[in-house]
Amino acid sequence: MTPPLTLAQLTELLLKFRRDRDWEQFHTAKDQMLSLTLEAAEVLELAQWREGDALDQHLLQSKEALGDELADVLNWVLLIAHDQKINIADAMVKKIAKNAIKYPIAEAKGRADKYTAYQRETPDAGS
Ligand SMILES: [Mg+2]
Repeated sequence: MTPPLTLAQLTELLLKFRRDRDWEQFHTAKDQMLSLTLEAAEVLELAQWREGDALDQHLLQSKEALGDELADVLNWVLLIAHDQKINIADAMVKKIAKNAIKYPIAEAKGRADKYTAYQRETPDAGS
């Protein structure tokens, strides 16, 4: 088993992989975003046409394939973040904090509603 790597170390591995193949020239922001979405769709493909226990069983039997596709998604996230000069760890921490505000425990616990279901009517400034 590989020792745990930081996001920065994983990014360095990806950058070396890309540099060694001279692929940076193809990695426009648009094509990277497109690739991220295509890889996310490959994750979803593992669930296509399956429900409930059959889906659970399929995912159990497809752990390597699921890991491969999740890795493909994360690879693009890390490359996009690197190229767009986004510190993805900082972005994640900030986003978790934003989600904590959007989804207060008192209102969201045990509910699957979108945050808009918790928004309260705010009185108009003039009335
Ligand atoms: Mg893939």
